[in-house]
Amino acid sequence: MQKVVKFGGSSLANSTQFEKVKNIVLSDPARRIVVVSALGKRTKDDYKITDLLFLTQAHLKYGVDEKSVFQIVKDRYLEVAKDLNLKLDLNKEFEIIESEFSKTIDKEMLVSRGEFLAAKMMAEYLDYKFIDAKDVIFFDYSGVIDSEKTDKAVQEVLKVYDKIVVPGFYGAYPDGKIHLLSRGGSDVTGSILAKASDATIYENWTDVSGFLVTDPRIVPSPKQIKEISYEELRELSYMGANVLHEDTIFPVQELDIPINIKNTNSPDDEGTIITSKCVDTKQIITGIAGKKDYDSITIIKKPKTEKLKVMREVLKVMAKYNINVEHMPSSIDTFSLIIESSKIAKHLYEVLFEIKEIEDVMDVVVDSDIALVAVVGRNMKTKAGISAKLFSIFGTNNINIKVIAQASQELSIIVGVSNSDFEKAIKAIYEGLVN
Ligand code: ASP
Repeated sequence: MQKVVKFGGSSLANSTQFEKVKNIVLSDPARRIVVVSALGKRTKDDYKITDLLFLTQAHLKYGVDEKSVFQIVKDRYLEVAKDLNLKLDLNKEFEIIESEFSKTIDKEMLVSRGEFLAAKMMAEYLDYKFIDAKDVIFFDYSGVIDSEKTDKAVQEVLKVYDKIVVPGFYGAYPDGKIHLLSRGGSDVTGSILAKASDATIYENWTDVSGFLVTDPRIVPSPKQIKEISYEELRELSYMGANVLHEDTIFPVQELDIPINIKNTNSPDDEGTIITSKCVDTKQIITGIAGKKDYDSITIIKKPKTEKLKVMREVLKVMAKYNINVEHMPSSIDTFSLIIESSKIAKHLYEVLFEIKEIEDVMDVVVDSDIALVAVVGRNMKTKAGISAKLFSIFGTNNINIKVIAQASQELSIIVGVSNSDFEKAIKAIYEGLVN
């Protein structure tokens, strides 16, 4: 039995949070592999260390005095170390970092120091072995994980050390230089380590007791999601639910290792389980998410012409401008492209011009006021009448539906409405199908 446990920045914001982490880790001997983020915000208006490190690098790059910004970083770490009576010589660590300061400092290296130092501190505090992520997590030059090398290195380390702390958010390029993941990447580090160590479970500790069915800013106190499949989670995060880093599930999904989202501030709460083996077959809707600001470009072709040919030519135009098409609902003589407005804004006029030039295109109509709402639920496919219920909810609430799309495997139904109806739609779906 072996657990990988990852703690996000809010779980490491100050010494009280460090204490909570220690209690959690030491209360279960299976919690052998610990991953940490950099120190996070203590209050809503506080700074995140990672942001300050990016800012330090920007100051250095543009020749602006960085001292006051970097001092905030130092003070945060020094305070925690002092509160916890750690022996780690942080001043020396900062000296090493500052000795590299120059206009051309390696940004990935500098920013990664947030997790590096947090991990060193946590290792001492837990009496676990500190293992630098650059020695066990490897990427190629394009940033793709080298799983074989990584798995081997992690397994070698675990043969020697029983309990380790690894900084999240980075690893090494083939030349040993630091490769930083994208923001929130410590989630991915945990997943990589869970896979490499063939963990029983990957616990991702944060400041909420798991995922909510929908956005609490729209629906006050929505229900908690108890379990969710990997695929459902991907659908929801793709549609804007701010949950885990979106690459988190790939490594663990390969070995079918469940992820448990847990709350450092309320460790007894069950949290949310992400797994391929969901057992609840009653809950029809798992989650509702959505995003505003999509454009719909509707192409009306001349009657009796070949739709496939027109579609192919239109998609060629999109490919030329590297514009991702989210959905493509179609009818006999028309089809629409649903695209994020921000992704097409720069080339909208060129795109429209080129589409109009295509043989057999009769007209092109643009509607740029669309919000998409995704209703996600693995159990929808076993239950008839869900769409009917959904659409009648829109009817009774007087919400006009502009687009309908059902994704593969009947995992989600996507409905496009006016931006101004977005919140109303989410509330109505929640009331009608979840509550
Ligand atoms: N500290 C990094 C960030 O703020 C990575 C992480 O926390 O996952 O994005």
